[in-house]
Order: sequence, then C-alpha cells, then structure tokens
Amino acid sequence: MIELYSKTNSSTIRNSVDYMFPDPSRNKHKDSMSDDTLHQHRSQLGVVLDRTLTYREHLTRLSAKVKTRQSIISKLSSSTWGADANTLRISTLSLVYSTAEYCAPVWLNSVHTKNVDKHLNAAMRTIGGLTKSTPLKWLPVLSNIAPPKLRREHALLQEWKKYGDNPLLPIHTDLTALENVQRLKSRKPPWKTARDLTKDNFNISSKWENDWTIENPDNQKLVINPTIKQPGFDLERNTWVTLNRIRTGHGRSGHMMYKWGLRDNETCDCGCESQTINHITTECPIRAFKGTMEDIHLVKEEAVEWMKNLDVKL
Ligand SMILES: [Zn+2]
Repeated sequence: MIELYSKTNSSTIRNSVDYMFPDPSRNKHKDSMSDDTLHQHRSQLGVVLDRTLTYREHLTRLSAKVKTRQSIISKLSSSTWGADANTLRISTLSLVYSTAEYCAPVWLNSVHTKNVDKHLNAAMRTIGGLTKSTPLKWLPVLSNIAPPKLRREHALLQEWKKYGDNPLLPIHTDLTALENVQRLKSRKPPWKTARDLTKDNFNISSKWENDWTIENPDNQKLVINPTIKQPGFDLERNTWVTLNRIRTGHGRSGHMMYKWGLRDNETCDCGCESQTINHITTECPIRAFKGTMEDIHLVKEEAVEWMKNLDVKL
C-alpha cells in the first residue's frame, strides 16, 4: 500500500483511505444519489469498489484471473514430465499468489474471499499432488505455503505497522483518528482486524502451528511442525505424489476408488476386504513396505525405491 500511496495524488489518497477504512458517516451523502449511481462500481488502484464495500464484484473478477493462472500451473504438473515440487511452488507463488493477494489488506474481511481461496486451494493441491478428497489442512503443509487467510492477515499487519511507524505518511494521522469514529458492526473494517491482531501478538508461523495442533488430519503423527518444508520436495513428480498420498491416506487405493464410485468393490488382490493406503503400505503380503511410515515420511533411500516400484499407482 505504501508503494501505491507514493504513486498517487492526494485526492486519490483520500479515497484509498475511504475504502480501506470505511467510515459510514462519509457514505451518508450517497443516500441522496440516484439508483443508477449507486449501482455503478468504482475502481481505485485496481480495486473495484461497491457501495457497501462487500468487494463482491472485485473478488469475482479476481477469482477469474486467479483461475486462469492456476490452470497454467496445473499444466506444468503433468504426471509424465511434471516439474518438481520446488519449481511448482515458486511458480505458483509468483504467478498465482502475486495476483491473488494484490491489495488483500483492503478486502480480507469480505465473505467473497472464498471465491479466490478455492483456486488457491487447487493450486496448493497441484503442488502436493493431492486428491480433491484430501482434508484442506493438508494443503498448506504439503505445498509449504501458509493458509491464505493467515497470509492475508500477515500482510495486513505488515502494512499496519509500516503506517504506524512512519509519521510522514499521510495515512498515519488517519489511523489515530479512526479510534474515535463510530463504525457499523457489519463492516468489519481492516483497521479493527489489524488492531486485534496486534493485541493478540499475531505471528503467522505460531498461528499456523497452533491451528494444525488443534485440528490435525495427520492420523499417523508424521508432521510435527507444519510450517517447515516437508521432506521430499526434490523428488521426481511421480514419487512425490505417491509419498503425499501415503502421508494423507487419500489416493487411488481400492477403498477410495470404491468410495468415489470408480470400482465395484474395495478388495485387495491379496484377499483383504478393504484396500486402504495404510493396508498397501503396512499390511499387504504382496507389496507392503518393510520399513516404517516414518522412513517413508523422511524419504529414506529404501522407501523411495519401494515407492518407485510400487505396482499400485496411487
Ligand atoms: Zn493387500
């Protein structure tokens, strides 16, 4: 935002403050406008504004842009010649996230952020080679990109601190004035979020780690710290995908294929009634791995060899 402020003139600055920190008293004059005027959308610095600041129009347009960019990334992940996870991650951050998070501190409290998040989830799924059925909490861990909401809150806090620390910025004075202005409860202004995050000593890594501990889909207790890059990012695409499907328990095992309606039964060719990924990895007399789940998670040499030769394509 600082960069944006420096590029604009003072009247635009006034308007920018208006939409980042909406003040109902300033909107009063709009009540006397004609209906036509009310339904028009204004665009400021690339953010489309609507009268009630729901950012619906802006986030719908943004969602379409992010979707196009995400589909380019998914083409790079083709299973036969797919790029490794590191390459996919860097490409996703620069191509998809840079667009998806533009001016995010302005609109982060909108209910329409979900339109953008569904494409970010798809992008994270691509990096990790994860199925649609995989619990959402796994996505940031296996793509090593913090959850979208936390990234936006982190960005907001960074901006808030910059404004607060620099009295030379025009917005600096406005921030102090905001404390005494009455707000509509439903508006959820970002400045209030920033103030709350500051009060709670928000830290993106600690928050992510805490959320993971509270609602952890990792039944095998493999991932202790979700914020670090998990082992295997350098593996070739096929092995990386197999590894993550074993970690999450979501992949093309007999059990899952049956659940998805793609097979008539879930039996394993060894005679077991239910061919889960855990069965394939730890129990199956035909193909189980001789080591431990920990060996697989840590990408030990023998585990990589086993995954490469596994006769079931997960
Ligand atoms: Zn079996």
